[in-house]
Amino acid sequence: MCRHLAWLGAPRSVSSLVLENPHGLLQQSWAPRRQRRGLLNADGWGVGLYVEGRPEPVRWRSSRPLWSDASFASVAPVLASGAVLAAVRSATVGMPPDETAAAPFTDGRWLLSHNGRVDRSVLPARNDAESVCDSAILAAHVFAEGPERVGDTVRAVAALDPGAFLNLLLADGRQVLAVTWGDPLSYLVEPDGVVVASEPWDDDPRWVDVPDHHLLSATPSGVAVTALEP
Ligand code: GLN
Repeated sequence: MCRHLAWLGAPRSVSSLVLENPHGLLQQSWAPRRQRRGLLNADGWGVGLYVEGRPEPVRWRSSRPLWSDASFASVAPVLASGAVLAAVRSATVGMPPDETAAAPFTDGRWLLSHNGRVDRSVLPARNDAESVCDSAILAAHVFAEGPERVGDTVRAVAALDPGAFLNLLLADGRQVLAVTWGDPLSYLVEPDGVVVASEPWDDDPRWVDVPDHHLLSATPSGVAVTALEP
C-alpha cells in the first residue's frame, strides 16, 4: 500500500517535508514502518503544491522510485509551500505502472491520494479519470461527488466493495481532509502547521494516531477527527 502525507501551515521546503525526515516519505519508499501490505513503495511518487497567486496546484510525478530521482532531490530544497500533498506508490497488481497512475490526482483546486485498493467495477465509469488505475477512478468519483462529502462517498463505496481499503488524503490549499479505512494514519500539530501522514516521519511523542473508519479535517484553526459509521 502506498504512503502519503500532507502539510498545511507556514511555507516549508518540499525537501524538508518529503526527503529529510528520518522516517519520512523517502525512507518509507524503501523501509516503511507501519505498512500492512507490500514491502516497498518503489512504483512512483508524486508531489502537489500550492504556490502564490495560483489557486490550482502544480504537480511533479514520476513512475520511478523516489530514491532514484536525483533531479527532484536537487530541486526540492528550493521548492517551498504552505500546502503540500505527496505520495509514494506501491502499485496494486494489474494496475498501470506509468506516471499517470501516481498520486496525487487533481481536479480544479483539489489534490487526492489513495492508500489502498478498490474493485473498479463498483465505481461508475468516468471518462475524466486520469488513469485506468483504481485510485484514479476513485479520485474522479470522489471529485464528482464533492470532495467535502468524502466521508459519505467512502462509506458508500465500502458498502459496494466490503474488501476495499480506502484511506484517502485530500487538500485544496486551505484545508486537508483524510479518511482512515483499513490503513494507519497519524497527525502532528507543530507551532507553524499540521502534518497528516500514513506514518510518523520521526519518533516525536506528539504524533497522534487516527482510529480506523474516521474522517480528519485540518484547517489553520485546528484538527477535528470524527467517526464514520460503516
Ligand atoms: N491501488 C493503487 C495503485 O495501484 C494504490 C496502491 C497502494 O495504496 N499501494 O496505485
